[in-house]
Amino acid sequence: MIDIAIIGAGVIGTAIARELARYDLNIVILEKDNDVSNGTTKANSAIIHAGYDAPINSLRGILNTRGNEMFDQICDDLSVPFKRVGSLVVAKTEDEVKTINELYANGLKLKVPNMRILNKEEILRMEPNLNKQIISALYAPTAGIVEPWELAIAYCENAMDNGVELKLNFEVKTIEKKEDHFIINSGCEEIKSRYIINSAGVYADKIYNMVTDSDFEIHPRKGQYFLLDKEAYGLVKHIIFPSPSEMGKGILLAPTVDGNIIVGPDSEDLGKNMKESIDTTTDRLNYIKESIKDICEIVPYKVNITTFAGLRAEPSNGDFIIEISKKVNGFINVAGIKSPGLSSAPAIAEYIVNLVKSLTDLTENIKFSPHRRKRIKFMELSDHDKNALIKENPQYGRIICRCEMITEGEIVDAIHRNAGGRTINGIKRRVRPGAGRCQGGFCGPKVMEILSRELNLPMESIVQENKASVILTGITKVGE
Ligand SMILES: Cc1cc2nc3c(=O)[nH]c(=O)nc-3n(C[C@H](O)[C@H](O)[C@H](O)COP(=O)(O)OP(=O)(O)OC[C@H]3O[C@@H](n4cnc5c(N)ncnc54)[C@H](O)[C@@H]3O)c2cc1C
Repeated sequence: MIDIAIIGAGVIGTAIARELARYDLNIVILEKDNDVSNGTTKANSAIIHAGYDAPINSLRGILNTRGNEMFDQICDDLSVPFKRVGSLVVAKTEDEVKTINELYANGLKLKVPNMRILNKEEILRMEPNLNKQIISALYAPTAGIVEPWELAIAYCENAMDNGVELKLNFEVKTIEKKEDHFIINSGCEEIKSRYIINSAGVYADKIYNMVTDSDFEIHPRKGQYFLLDKEAYGLVKHIIFPSPSEMGKGILLAPTVDGNIIVGPDSEDLGKNMKESIDTTTDRLNYIKESIKDICEIVPYKVNITTFAGLRAEPSNGDFIIEISKKVNGFINVAGIKSPGLSSAPAIAEYIVNLVKSLTDLTENIKFSPHRRKRIKFMELSDHDKNALIKENPQYGRIICRCEMITEGEIVDAIHRNAGGRTINGIKRRVRPGAGRCQGGFCGPKVMEILSRELNLPMESIVQENKASVILTGITKVGE
């Protein structure tokens, strides 16, 4: 019997698993997809918000500021790059100036540190490429940037290093409540667990409906993006938001941890059942281009390398729903984790541990190690270290991705770690082949070959992303 089954391997489920791994518990993460972080966690703005904008008594407000302050330690322990680049919310009109002053006052109540209101000269000194009509800005130096999928993968890897089990391709289809446990069924496999933590993202209402009539609904709110090539790096150095609206924080411009520039997202409410709609559309992308002019009029779309979309899990009550069910013993909901869910992830995990402690006694896992083995980034090594590494393992001497300069050794390592990559995009998210200018045009087939060789699987079974994204179907011609 499992103690705790966590449904969903996004940043929330994996953060919770890693925090609970500090205790002597039998934990399993159940994920319907073929990789960690395949849901909303892989497609968002990647910002660790300072935390000035949520209502002061909301869980979103409290957990965002707490989460933000935990990020240095977490990313240090898990060896995940994190940069506190700071954010600006800019204002062009007197009404917008009023809004940013209100945000500042709200931030003070939420104890966001070191915020300042900047005048035009200060703004343009910090960000010379911004629209010259901007007259004021709220500066929050504690805002940061991270790779969200890398964080989730790192959380999962460290959780597994500490004894947590990960079951991929396990779509929870039914849950049966027994006296003191649940039976969770995927159609192929059955798991018995004392407790369930429901962190299924946009599907959290569907999961809760499997055990009772859910008292909340989650509808998808889509956001689309442009991702610009590293050539655009330096366009802005901080995260730049417009003055917010009812639909959210607005369309932003920001650097990414890996040296690209991100532009987006818009905000589009979708039908309740459109939970897989992550296509991008010309009309919305054009709308983003128009809107961003309020912030910057010289965004170089000619160096755009990809577009993508993500779905916010918009809850019916507007706030995070993090609670022990009052209707079903032993069931914990972590639902409606829209933005700032990524920023709040470490604090949500801490909060859940306290909820679990109120259900059962926990004893410490004395073998717990918070550290994840550091990933080698070959191109960042000195010539001396590069040569030594190649001598030790010649796979580090073979460049597979020419855009990002990623070696075979890095790819092989990413396959064989706990929560290792199994798909072409899974490897891209872990070590970046295919994340550069050619978007995998050159290195994709080589990554496929390496996956096939290392996992001892036929080439035809290596997919781009999810199970349906088949690349090869079989041999068409045999050579002499
Ligand atoms: C456009 C956009 C921009 C955002 N920007 C930011 C930002 O800058 N900063 C910030 O803090 N937050 C941001 N967010 C919010 C943040 O991305 C989310 O809060 C976070 O990723 C939610 O993680 P999650 O683990 O709850 O969900 P997910 O990552 O969606 O994970 C849920 C998992 O559950 C799995 N699952 C679902 N149903 C089942 C089932 N039946 N059986 C098994 N598994 C199942 C899914 O496959 C998925 O992997 C943004 C969100 C969007 C969409």
